[in-house]
Amino acid sequence: MQEKSEVNTDIPNSSRKQDYWFTEYGPTNTAISLRVKYKLFEKTTPYQKIEIFESYDHGRVMALDGFIMLTEKDEFIYHEMIAHVPLFTHPEPTYVLVIGGGDGGAVREILKHETIKKVELVEIDEEVVNAAKIYFPQVASHLDDDRVEISFQDGIEFVKGKKGVYDVILIDSPDPIGPAVGLFEESFYKDAFSALNDSGIIVAQAESPFVFPDLIKQINSIFKKYFPIVRFYLANVPTYASGVISFVLGSKKFDPIKDFNPNRVKKIVQSLRYYNDKIHIASFALPNFFENLLK
Ligand code: SAM
Repeated sequence: MQEKSEVNTDIPNSSRKQDYWFTEYGPTNTAISLRVKYKLFEKTTPYQKIEIFESYDHGRVMALDGFIMLTEKDEFIYHEMIAHVPLFTHPEPTYVLVIGGGDGGAVREILKHETIKKVELVEIDEEVVNAAKIYFPQVASHLDDDRVEISFQDGIEFVKGKKGVYDVILIDSPDPIGPAVGLFEESFYKDAFSALNDSGIIVAQAESPFVFPDLIKQINSIFKKYFPIVRFYLANVPTYASGVISFVLGSKKFDPIKDFNPNRVKKIVQSLRYYNDKIHIASFALPNFFENLLK
């Protein structure tokens, strides 16, 4: 029985001290509000507005252009799912490219795989990396690892002309706004496809089916032009619009279900809080309305 004094839930909102909420106003006439204590950081860069808050129940929160990117409370879900599904689909991932991902969460997860020799992180906004290192040290924890090489440039330009280089490419993008719009377009996916080697895999965060259904249809039809294997998978992230985020996996050779060896997961599962071998399989089970988007 929780001590009454610990969680005083009977204070009406109106009389709570510091009644200060950060609200993300979504594109589908919905909003997400997190009660915050204060703002820790704010900077408008040539690319976006970066805000970092100390919240009451979600730890620190990062928002870019008013959209929640990550919270300390649930970032592990997104970062484990964007990294471990492709890295356990590929039999021996050694060379990974991350586009976006300046908070470092995807890099932290990638480096849990002992086969990794090099991670290239291409983040357009150096200020995101600087802020993540200061305010989210447990997310940005591995950005200074010797195997990590960070380039501050546009991922769209970076992949142009690259041929047959990477085992895995993760497109860890924000919503399709500002500099990220081009990360959802065919010309970029085509260049990223070429940058993969013959057994390469791409995973991109593909937004929520409740918020961006048409974008998911578009991504699906583009990926099917280039990849023999295209699968979507889902994860529940409480602080993302609609609470559901999808990922698209495009693979030149390995199938995320048929070629998945659950025994490999045992090596690192103790360090994971969301992903496991059962979640790997289950995340590809799509509800009918999502399947219909892909037809
Ligand atoms: N990892 C976070 C999460 O949990 O959802 C969100 C993604 S991360 C913060 C998105 C990053 O993509 C941002 O740091 C943004 O600066 C970067 N970005 C946006 N457009 C880009 C582009 N064209 N090339 C490289 N990075 C880009």
